[in-house]
Amino acid sequence: MLHPGASTNLERGIGMEVIKTKNELRELLNKERQRGSSLGLVPTMGFLHKGHLSLMEEARRRDDVVVASIFVNPTQFGPGEDYVAYPRDLPRDMWLASSAGVDYLFVPEADEMYQDNSITFVDMEGLTDVLCGASRPGHFRGVMTVVTKLFNIIRPDRAYFGQKDAQQVLIIKKMVKDLDMGIDIVEMPIVREEDGLAMSSRNSYLTESERKSALVISRSLSDARDSINKGENRAGLIKEAMIKEISSERAASIDYIEIVDAQTLKPIERIEGGVLIAAAVKIGRTRLIDNIKLEV
Ligand code: AMP
Repeated sequence: MLHPGASTNLERGIGMEVIKTKNELRELLNKERQRGSSLGLVPTMGFLHKGHLSLMEEARRRDDVVVASIFVNPTQFGPGEDYVAYPRDLPRDMWLASSAGVDYLFVPEADEMYQDNSITFVDMEGLTDVLCGASRPGHFRGVMTVVTKLFNIIRPDRAYFGQKDAQQVLIIKKMVKDLDMGIDIVEMPIVREEDGLAMSSRNSYLTESERKSALVISRSLSDARDSINKGENRAGLIKEAMIKEISSERAASIDYIEIVDAQTLKPIERIEGGVLIAAAVKIGRTRLIDNIKLEV
């Protein structure tokens, strides 16, 4: 069935509808809701990889209707960041999302998402000021605002996020709780390449030699895990070893390495309880993040 403003057949994956406007999506999802279907949402910025697909597949398993969004959100990029260069490939994404079982793919343009010069933002204290929030001022305000908008448009029962962006999912969970949004946030593990590199759309920026250098990030994290498993519990020493290992890679420059409490994101001295070891490292000009979570 074709809806007003619906995508052309060419733009449609098999069994999946590609929707560009908020109104059209709202109407379609109202009908789904009236049928009593549960709705799962997977927000992404596109250029899909197996990490994204793992979220979509989990949504397919748990919800009656799966909505995924692809939106490179301008408000979460700072000046001089890669908003314009961010990789985009909608035809390929449509094929992958459809194969992962997505029913509705929401692909709004920026002026559809932010109409009439919107001036309202969602923000948070504390959790947003550290780690990536310290390196990228305003980033999480942009993320929280766009995720809130997606929640309001789609009104999902569940929304799926990756541990790859550990700070982001923590912030979203807290926002949902603080603002009584009543959405179940599902956190899924990091999907990695065979050699350990965390999958990321930004990996496509890497040259062949940078791709090899980038391995130092996941290697340093798994070395940290090994030494904790062997009984080391001094966060300072583990952090130092990681800094040393990553600095030995010529193409790498550290944005941050932090060992923090997994709930408060406050630095810890002793490894115990829920611990997050998070790294942001530039490989050449590409900023990559990765982390491990441990329960010690
Ligand atoms: P992005 O398109 O980078 O904004 O990511 C969209 C969603 O996919 C976020 O919830 C990410 O945490 C998640 N994600 C990205 N990369 C991975 C990965 N390698 N493993 C699991 N989830 C991921």
